[in-house]
Amino acid sequence: MSEEFDIIVVGGGPAGVISAYTAAKKSDYRVLLIDAKEMELIGKKTCGDALVQYAPLFLKEKLGLTPPLESEINDTVRCLVFQTPDNDTFQINGDGFIIDRHKYGQRLINEAQKAGVEIRPRHKVLRALTHNNFVIGIEVKDLNTGKKMQIYSKITIDCSGRNHVVRRTLPNDQFPLLEKTLQQGDMAASYREIIRLKEGEHEYLHMIKVIYELEIPLPGYLWIFTKGSKMLNVGIGCPINQHNGSKAKDLKKIFRKAFKKWYTPNQYEIIHAAGYTIPIRYPLLNAVANGFLTAGDAACHVNPFTVEGHAPALIAGYYAGYQAAKALEGSEKSPSMELLWEYNINIMNYFGKQHCRLQLYTSELCRLGHRKINSFLKLFSEKEASNGELKKNQYHELPSMFVQFSKHHAISSDMIRLTKNLLFIEKYLSNYPKTPKDFPIWRMRLEPLLKKYSPSNFKQN
Ligand SMILES: Cc1cc2nc3c(=O)[nH]c(=O)nc-3n(C[C@H](O)[C@H](O)[C@H](O)COP(=O)(O)OP(=O)(O)OC[C@H]3O[C@@H](n4cnc5c(N)ncnc54)[C@H](O)[C@@H]3O)c2cc1C
Repeated sequence: MSEEFDIIVVGGGPAGVISAYTAAKKSDYRVLLIDAKEMELIGKKTCGDALVQYAPLFLKEKLGLTPPLESEINDTVRCLVFQTPDNDTFQINGDGFIIDRHKYGQRLINEAQKAGVEIRPRHKVLRALTHNNFVIGIEVKDLNTGKKMQIYSKITIDCSGRNHVVRRTLPNDQFPLLEKTLQQGDMAASYREIIRLKEGEHEYLHMIKVIYELEIPLPGYLWIFTKGSKMLNVGIGCPINQHNGSKAKDLKKIFRKAFKKWYTPNQYEIIHAAGYTIPIRYPLLNAVANGFLTAGDAACHVNPFTVEGHAPALIAGYYAGYQAAKALEGSEKSPSMELLWEYNINIMNYFGKQHCRLQLYTSELCRLGHRKINSFLKLFSEKEASNGELKKNQYHELPSMFVQFSKHHAISSDMIRLTKNLLFIEKYLSNYPKTPKDFPIWRMRLEPLLKKYSPSNFKQN
């Protein structure tokens, strides 16, 4: 048995649901969204639940989608506070939410359905189907009946999160411009608990706190996120690479040890506990192929410094759905990668460039190690950077502030090298190729530099 759609979206997380919604809203095409979860569980995910405000505002402006409703918000966030092992703190102001991902995700999937998207829950995508260097659909297993089937489409959008099931099952020889797999070293492992205090209220209302601890390999941290006055979302994460592979396995133990400095286990009850993994590498430099796009975690769209991936997934979802609908206009055929290329340019302009720069910055943080993290962050503190710029800027501006700072202060030769590389990346990424033809040569110069600074090579001091 086989079926045919114009667009198939794999995954009903933030990237998938917004891709499907955007494509359906902007066109009359038949759009199918597939997820392995039951309909009622779509949107639910082990997460820190922080969502920066700019992404829902972006969706409101572009699509008229209402930002998280009061009933979907556990707390509003006004600042992010970093704490170093020496107990110094650095604050960045910024608006956001701690949301109930399940409720917000359910509203979005229902909106997508109302916009005309066909939703197929409890269907697991097994692999990509390809023909003549085009992605032509997917093979799926119906988890209710156990039956396998093939579903064809003109465009397939992979939003399957860390699984990247469509991309990683593409045959190598047919898609030379697309990276197929993620290295294990480019992933972070995490463990988190939702806890309720037995007595009193916590002091983290309207704040999210990131705490660097000696026992958590950098750039990993312990997070304490508010979830109303008595509840907290707390957890730790760290990269899984050759330098700390064994530590990543012991996350729960490390978490217990680190968190008891704030609360001891007898002070709270655990409502939910789980672990998960997340890609923390720079974004795919190319995220399209003939008849194919990918967005969200599946395309490494997570911020490598803070590990926030929800907002980039929503933004990338919009651009993927928009591009898919645009590329199909006036054509009966599956679009070539040339017609989808604009998606790469949009992603690079919106957050891709910043994420690449933050990757370098994060790598430097690891190289310096916990003992020097204070001086690194202090570079931008109110006293030293003048006018409290860090307080006014989002953290994605950290690399630019670093470059500004280095122009006026004596810094080490390693930091001079980092400054040069940050400036190079900024300039290089501003010249992202206009067509796929120019991509292989463009990539050749940038990729080795980014790989050198990628999480698999993060070294701890
Ligand atoms: C512990 C933890 C804490 C985090 N904290 C934060 C935070 O505080 N703020 C933040 O912004 N980000 C955070 N993130 C990152 C954030 O959760 C992700 O970046 C975001 O969910 C990515 O959205 P997505 O749509 O790309 O993927 P996902 O949300 O992972 O959705 C993927 C979907 O694809 C479906 N799927 C997967 N494989 C298949 C298959 N074979 N067939 C069918 N369906 C499939 C899944 O069921 C799922 O519904 C955190 C991540 C973790 C692990």
